[in-house]
Amino acid sequence: MTGLGFLSVVAAEAGGESLARTLLTQGTYLAAGVFFILGLKSLTHPDSARKGMQQAAIGMLLAIIGTLIVEQIVEYQWIIGGLMLGTAIGYPLGTRVPMTAMPQRIAVSHMFGALAASLVGIAEYLHRTADGGTIPRAQMAALGFEVLFGSLTVTGSFMAFGKLQEFLPGRPVTYTGQNAVNIGAFIATVGLWAYLIVDPTAAWAFWAMTASAFVIGISLVLPIGGADMPVVVSLLNSYAGLAASATGFAIGNTVLIIAGALDGASGFILSIIMSKAMNRSFGNVIFGAFGTPPESSAKSNVGLTVKSITAEDAAIQLAYASKVIVVPGYGMAVAQAQHTVRELAELIEKKGGVVKYAIHPVAGRMPGHMNVLLAEANVPYERLYDMEEINAEFPTADVALVIGANDVVNPAAKHDKGSPIYGMPILEVDQAKSIIVMKRSMNAGFAGIENELFYDAKTSMLFGDAKTSLMKLVSEVKTL
Ligand code: NDP
Repeated sequence: MTGLGFLSVVAAEAGGESLARTLLTQGTYLAAGVFFILGLKSLTHPDSARKGMQQAAIGMLLAIIGTLIVEQIVEYQWIIGGLMLGTAIGYPLGTRVPMTAMPQRIAVSHMFGALAASLVGIAEYLHRTADGGTIPRAQMAALGFEVLFGSLTVTGSFMAFGKLQEFLPGRPVTYTGQNAVNIGAFIATVGLWAYLIVDPTAAWAFWAMTASAFVIGISLVLPIGGADMPVVVSLLNSYAGLAASATGFAIGNTVLIIAGALDGASGFILSIIMSKAMNRSFGNVIFGAFGTPPESSAKSNVGLTVKSITAEDAAIQLAYASKVIVVPGYGMAVAQAQHTVRELAELIEKKGGVVKYAIHPVAGRMPGHMNVLLAEANVPYERLYDMEEINAEFPTADVALVIGANDVVNPAAKHDKGSPIYGMPILEVDQAKSIIVMKRSMNAGFAGIENELFYDAKTSMLFGDAKTSLMKLVSEVKTL
């Protein structure tokens, strides 16, 4: 007999069915919490990341089971309907959305999670204050926090989704004094929350706070664009977690407190790690004040020429190189070229060259995007090098092979103060002895800006879909 089963039998004998149910629910919640923590631990390494997702899914299943046996549930038809609707939306989202659209998908998930937290909070407030009732102050604090953060995450996540999906303008929308307005509005909303704690029956303050939080979500994400999006998506993840945790306090649900706190804390830590990678300050992360309007860049590429190369010539360079650094980016994900990259790397190694992979923290469209793709293609993890480790090695590389990367190798980030990506650390590909860039055209990357690397005298452009070009390279290298 399992521990949980044993506990429930003991309780059933000692205190009746009600206590047994409570013990079973709490025990299941505890087990769910353990699985969530194990899942997070496993997610810290690409090798165990898949297992981490499975552990987290088991945790979620236990949390749902634990909730279904809660005694206060009087009828199941709405819950079953909700589970069916959730599965109908969630399953296609999980299986059909391509990896390249993952940030938008995550933004939508946060929106739904935060919407659930806000609605629970609003329903709880209406229920408790109906017929002149009131709410204890401590509970009002949790409930107000939940609605405040939940509501601003709903609209903030929707804005992030729209920008990433490109049905809203992706560039920052800014105006003079924007940060002051945003911070002022936030302080005023927190003031309404404080007022509610003092007087939980002040319905006007509750609705004003909720409406204001919805507007703040929009204004928070409005000034954010281009390369800053990953940080804000992760920050919204943290807000959604905090709102869920507060929901747990407000309605007395342990697993929501645990899961929300884990989500909030891990999202926050990820935001800090990513903001460091993007060279943003901690203050920027907290206030979302990323939207310094970019001065127009003085750089122009008019008159500069681009040198293109054939697959045959590129193959010769690669086959006889003693050190090649592969720099993957979003284009590799679009082309699904990771398996062909590994094949090419193995051929170069057979010919005596060393191949290393340089991983930028925000390459692709989600944190760890390149690691996940390369792990899927069985590239040995020890060949993957973080930006800080590999940057010193570019001057000794015979060839830097850039596969569908653009913003993360743009030297303007180092010296062009007018560039929207100025200050973001980059992979210093321009230091390599020669550079081969694989992309389809001269189009810009996510940040929408020109890249002077493509006009560098050492750079050769191999135009075409990354997978098609890599397949040509593989067959050429085989003949050499
Ligand atoms: P970029 O978006 O800067 O550039 C990708 C390049 O890939 C494009 O210039 C495109 O050029 C090329 N490309 C697209 N499809 C193909 C294809 N089939 N074959 C070959 N090339 C292709 O990517 P990076 O990885 O360099 O930078 C990531 C950017 O995304 C950063 O600005 C980052 O801030 C942002 N971002 C990152 C997130 C994250 O969490 N990692 C989340 C959201 C945004 P062309 O069209 O000419 O082929």
